[in-house]
Amino acid sequence: MGKVTGFLEFERIDEKYEPVAARLRSYNEFVIGLTAEQAKIQGARCMDCGTPFCNSGCPINNIIPDFNDLVYRNDWRAALDVLHSTNNFPEYTGRVCPAPCEAACTLNVNDDPVGIKSIEHAIIDRGWAEGWVVPQPAARRTGQRVAVVGSGPAGLAAAQQLARAGHDVTVFDKNDRIGGLLRYGIPDFKMEKTHIERRIEQMEAEGVTFRPGVLIGALPATSKITSFARETIAADDLVKRFDAVLLAGGAEVSRDLPVPGRDLDGVHFAMEFLPQQNKVVAGDSVKKQLRADGKHVVVIGGGDTGSDCVGTSNRHGAASVTQLELLPMPPEHEDKPLTWPYWPIKLRASSSHEEGCERAFATATKEFVGSKGRVRALKTVNVQWVNGKMLEVPGSEREIKADLVLLAMGFVGPVPSILDAFGVERDARGNAKATTDATGGYRTNVANVFAAGDMRRGQSLVVWAIREGRQAARAVDEHLMGTSTLPR
Ligand SMILES: Cc1cc2nc3c(=O)[nH]c(=O)nc-3n(C[C@H](O)[C@H](O)[C@H](O)COP(=O)(O)OP(=O)(O)OC[C@H]3O[C@@H](n4cnc5c(N)ncnc54)[C@H](O)[C@@H]3O)c2cc1C
Ligand code: SF4
Repeated sequence: MGKVTGFLEFERIDEKYEPVAARLRSYNEFVIGLTAEQAKIQGARCMDCGTPFCNSGCPINNIIPDFNDLVYRNDWRAALDVLHSTNNFPEYTGRVCPAPCEAACTLNVNDDPVGIKSIEHAIIDRGWAEGWVVPQPAARRTGQRVAVVGSGPAGLAAAQQLARAGHDVTVFDKNDRIGGLLRYGIPDFKMEKTHIERRIEQMEAEGVTFRPGVLIGALPATSKITSFARETIAADDLVKRFDAVLLAGGAEVSRDLPVPGRDLDGVHFAMEFLPQQNKVVAGDSVKKQLRADGKHVVVIGGGDTGSDCVGTSNRHGAASVTQLELLPMPPEHEDKPLTWPYWPIKLRASSSHEEGCERAFATATKEFVGSKGRVRALKTVNVQWVNGKMLEVPGSEREIKADLVLLAMGFVGPVPSILDAFGVERDARGNAKATTDATGGYRTNVANVFAAGDMRRGQSLVVWAIREGRQAARAVDEHLMGTSTLPR
């Protein structure tokens, strides 16, 4: 373990942020990572508590006590090897993971948890800076061809694992750049896209072929799903041309709010707004970009996507930003004896909230009010929850001024027409039907076709997508070769 008395001697040190005024001037990342000395002190706080709850709290089961100890002992290179043994892309999780591992840390029972995510961030950033992250091409090729549909974290993790197992892997994406929601969704200020470019370079050197701008199957003609496809390949063609196909197309259908006035100009899905800003930051010209400058913005939905709309609107120079949430305000602090080591429900303020935002809880939208076809306000009502039922509070109706409304109420599931094109059965929630069993997991009902990530589990997190991509890669490898040495 780190330092035997470390947890008694040292306080948790959180990563700091650039001041609000400075960070609102750009779309650059603003988190100031730990110094080597700070990371060492944080590593020393780990108690190596025998049963590492953090390890099972982490969806990819990062071997956290080991890398904490190695950082404490200044052996950063070995720490990087430990981290990479379970996580293909720690620079993504080290930036955007909500860190369920920290909720599960034993120190969190009666103290502040070890800053695991900040240590992970420090290890991988040092790894890249030192030139330790290099291609690991397979020693021998198998001649088996695998198509991966979708280049989000699930598709990328699977592709990297499969290429390292010696297969010829091609990754297709309907978008013009690789990365899935890491590229078009998550704002640059949370994760700059150079982190994706570096991994693409590494994976190309490991033999992965990337085919951006290629839609597999079909999208409905009126769909608002992000797509920059220049070419289409039919699903059955793909299945014929490859020995195995992994579907990792995400859960891209946004949840709508079909109340009166939904068709007014100025009411948009968050996913019409956020990818445009990613494109502008990448240097593309975007015709008629949705802008929040000088506008009263209302974001409906209190999750990550909503928070990203808040941060982006403030960078545009919105006159005001209000975020509405249907659920009541959670308690400021969790009841630790009740919730540990699980993920607790408590009030969370993101860095975007700190930048300026009024938050209203237990608020439902009844109507969008317009003038000359454009939205000008929302009619809302307060709600209370009784035995799981939502009841309106009489007399609590109000109007909120709005020139731009962004719907960020989550995603209902994958695009049905894409699964239908392959003939893949859907589960009760509309996701690709496949289990995660150690044997036979990730297989769909269609021969040689597998599914992973948000397309299989529904809207989730980057870390879960990486886990599913890694496990699905093992399932595909086993299917092609009869056996696999890839880790699950
Ligand atoms: C705005 C936003 C912010 C988020 N912030 C966070 C966060 O801070 N932390 C976190 O952990 N998670 C966050 N998430 C969730 C996280 O991004 C997703 O859970 C994760 O990216 C899912 O990975 P995936 O690989 O399964 O799919 P995705 O990342 O959705 O990638 C799927 C890819 O498949 C492509 N595709 C789909 N169908 C086809 C087809 N037929 N042909 C070709 N290509 C196709 C799509 O174009 C897309 O690029 C956020 C999500 C959103 C929307
Ligand atoms: S990937 Fe997420 S849960 Fe796992 S160790 Fe890193 S921050 Fe924690």
